[in-house]
Amino acid sequence: MTKQNNPLFDPKNRSAETSLVHGGIERSQFNETSEPIYMTSGYTYPESAYAEKLFKGEIVGHNYSRFSNPTVDVLQKRMALLEGAEDARALATGMAAVTCAVQSQVRAGDHIVASRALFGGCRFVVEDFMPRWGVSSTLVDGRDPENFLKAMRPNTKLIFIETPTNPTLELVDIEAVAKIAHAGGAKLIVDNVFATALYQSPLKLGADLVTYSATKHIDGQGRALGGLILGSKELITGDVHTFIRQTGPSISPFNAWVMLKGLETLPLRVRQMTENATRIADFLGDHPKVNRVIYPHHKSHPQYELAKRQMKAGSTLVAFEVKGGQEAAFKLADSLAVILISNNLGDAKSIITHPRTTTHQRLTEEVRLESGITPGMLRISVGLENADDLIADLGYGLDQI
Ligand SMILES: *Cc1c(COP(=O)(O)O)cnc(C)c1O
Repeated sequence: MTKQNNPLFDPKNRSAETSLVHGGIERSQFNETSEPIYMTSGYTYPESAYAEKLFKGEIVGHNYSRFSNPTVDVLQKRMALLEGAEDARALATGMAAVTCAVQSQVRAGDHIVASRALFGGCRFVVEDFMPRWGVSSTLVDGRDPENFLKAMRPNTKLIFIETPTNPTLELVDIEAVAKIAHAGGAKLIVDNVFATALYQSPLKLGADLVTYSATKHIDGQGRALGGLILGSKELITGDVHTFIRQTGPSISPFNAWVMLKGLETLPLRVRQMTENATRIADFLGDHPKVNRVIYPHHKSHPQYELAKRQMKAGSTLVAFEVKGGQEAAFKLADSLAVILISNNLGDAKSIITHPRTTTHQRLTEEVRLESGITPGMLRISVGLENADDLIADLGYGLDQI
């Protein structure tokens, strides 16, 4: 057969764009073009002996959608192809993914080291929840890998990082931190939402597990919540699968299907959003009413060298600090006509956030300032609108200050 001899028959020989359109698909007897939605909680068996074998794991098949569903399977396979991971699990939300990834790897008496600049929910899990279950944690300034080394203890089982961080877009050197983790007998989890799988590959840099909020760039159109955990077959089918199976943070087959449709256009959208973000970073960087712009691939980024080495592109988020503090920041945001005031990110619609009064309101002013979240700081998640319109919108806003 010629088709089977074609090198492109093997998904490993396909580019990301191709895998994101076709990867993991299993057509039903109707040979539909689009991925079918198997909106079912359970499955039936032709006979009792078949069920017995299935539950023993002697035959492969689905037995309950809390941990196994054909539509969710396609999403997992497609995402694993993109990430270059051996296996993946999809979950109900990004926070479900982070919580499962962390909890599946630790037990009472263990210790976690994490970078202090984290998405609010992630920080809460590490800083507040974990100690309640007897797992202590230390938060460090993630910009210098030495800080992770200094925080390691004999019982450190996990390092958890996010890079670039929210909202100040600081970077953590994944390769250096992976080495520190492994030398100390710990595993490394990287929350890769901001960079996306297209621009940063933590597993190749030594991470053991990667997590995503699929709510962000993967859906990217503000429709559904979702999350993913990716890693080696051993970790995913072992601790991670067991944790999901027994605690149930599962994604609905319908939402998994929405994410699959999102994956088909992910490269197109993220590339355009990144191009827009680059132009906005350049515009803000040169503006007299802006103190500083923060964008990983902008020359002014304090970790520009690392950004170039670790990320293929600067991705879709831009942070900046306006002169005049919170009053000026509010005035700017309130006079925008296209960019929306919201706190989501990775969306087709551009969004502006004032972290101090929203996403990072819970932190004390001291902790906020330590992480660079000043009163005049704003974060933009750059969308798919025309870049000239976005720049004109921001220009108008800056003129109002
Ligand atoms: C949004 C986000 C999460 C949480 O994802 P949800 O889908 O909202 O639960 C975790 N980490 C990062 C970096 C995020 O941006």
